[in-house]
Amino acid sequence: MTAETPPPVPTPASPAASDATAAAPRERTGIPRNPGRRDLGLRATLLFPNREIVERYYVPVIYTACRTCYSELDPDEIFRRAADGEIDQQKMQKLIAGVIESGHGSTIEHVVFTFGISGVSRTLSHQLVRHRAGVAFDQQSQRYVKFKGAATMLPATIEDATPELRARYTEQVDGALGLYGEMLGAGIPGEDARFVFPNATRTNLVMTTNLRALIHMSGLRLCTMAQWEIRRLFQLIRHEIFNVSPFLGSFLAPKCVPLGYCDEMGNRDQHCPIRPHKDNVLAAWAEKAKSARAAGRELPVT
Ligand SMILES: Cc1cc2nc3c(=O)[nH]c(=O)nc-3n(C[C@H](O)[C@H](O)[C@H](O)COP(=O)(O)OP(=O)(O)OC[C@H]3O[C@@H](n4cnc5c(N)ncnc54)[C@H](O)[C@@H]3O)c2cc1C
Repeated sequence: MTAETPPPVPTPASPAASDATAAAPRERTGIPRNPGRRDLGLRATLLFPNREIVERYYVPVIYTACRTCYSELDPDEIFRRAADGEIDQQKMQKLIAGVIESGHGSTIEHVVFTFGISGVSRTLSHQLVRHRAGVAFDQQSQRYVKFKGAATMLPATIEDATPELRARYTEQVDGALGLYGEMLGAGIPGEDARFVFPNATRTNLVMTTNLRALIHMSGLRLCTMAQWEIRRLFQLIRHEIFNVSPFLGSFLAPKCVPLGYCDEMGNRDQHCPIRPHKDNVLAAWAEKAKSARAAGRELPVT
């Protein structure tokens, strides 16, 4: 998978198009620095449920969904026993963890989490709303809200750039917002004046997601290949879930963690060391199989 925003196409005038750059060996990229180290001014707040509801009902609901598949009991009786504390927490968690690890995802679609997300850029929200299954969004309107002082996001690389470059960025963004205000003043409707907003413009959303979708989204967005701002958002989301349930929060991890290997094309050089790349895992397996065959035996495939 490539970056969410494709790299700019080099033009003859741009330094990126020079032969020297094209011929240079690809630099080993480090893991992008953890975006959590900077205060980006974005927030994710778990609006619903609170810890009490999660502890009292969420694990019992998921347990009931799992247990119903293997029990003669009616679901309401399984739920009653689970919610009344008649079933050991450890036992419930063990079954749930096993079912999640086996990929029986419908069992965790029965519980949902609602987040208030604020101060994220439109760059982030455009990526976030690409998720379609098991998730609902409502976003602040740029048609109905007339922004008096629209806030913007400043990427760390631009913050750390030369003062000249940073000043030009600020000038460009402030200029766009100033023009927006002037257009509103001249009677241009907000729905048209907003065309001048940069991707850096901040926005607010409400997102409700079931646990299956949340684990899926976290798998993609906590990956070090994800864009820094959305990665930060999912770090905050994971923090919120941990606050209400360390057990459920433990399933929010980069996708390579449950997979056991990395499947990102962009990590073939293994600059991210969280898990070995699948090409290397397969190569190691082929090597092992070859040695075994040379020794007159076949490796078991199951
Ligand atoms: C690191 C990274 C880089 C990216 N780069 C780009 C990019 O350059 N350009 C770009 O356009 N996008 C990019 N994306 C977005 C990506 O392609 C997906 O659109 C986005 O991550 C949503 O994930 P999903 O497809 O798993 O959908 P979700 O809506 O989250 O769906 C969850 C799962 O449900 C199933 N599902 C959902 N809808 C259907 C359906 N209609 N039919 C069958 N199964 C379905 C699939 O199994 C899917 O994985 C990037 C994402 C990441 C994480």
